[in-house]
Amino acid sequence: MSETKVKNKPSRPIPRPIEPVNKGFWDECQGGVLHFQKCDGCNKFRHLPRNMCAYCGSPEWHWAPSTGRGKLFSWTIAHMPMHPAFVADVPYVAAIIEMEEGVRLVSWLRSVVLEDLALDMPVKLMYERITDDFQLPCFVPA
Ligand SMILES: [Zn+2]
Repeated sequence: MSETKVKNKPSRPIPRPIEPVNKGFWDECQGGVLHFQKCDGCNKFRHLPRNMCAYCGSPEWHWAPSTGRGKLFSWTIAHMPMHPAFVADVPYVAAIIEMEEGVRLVSWLRSVVLEDLALDMPVKLMYERITDDFQLPCFVPA
């Protein structure tokens, strides 16, 4: 390992989806609007991305935009960075957000006072730039 690599701050890991349907989710995020799959058979939103609806079995779906609004369903506070790139971020809140569309996703809850964390806290979407060509959907208190 070169001395340069040791001194540089490590890069934050970014998703490397294998399945096209998962790649589609992350590609939609890069446009600045969060999208979820919406079933063409029963009209229900779903997340995590998958090829077939768990409600009606339809393989037909499309990407539909999210309002970007949700509420805090659950969380944990990470005090120990699990990757060197996150040393400056601890403590941070790893949260499960329940979106207005009814789906839930795991994300970061940023800019929050830890003592203010509460079930059903209203949150809204923001994006955090990770690399020049990748931004991560995160949330802040609404
Ligand atoms: Zn369906």
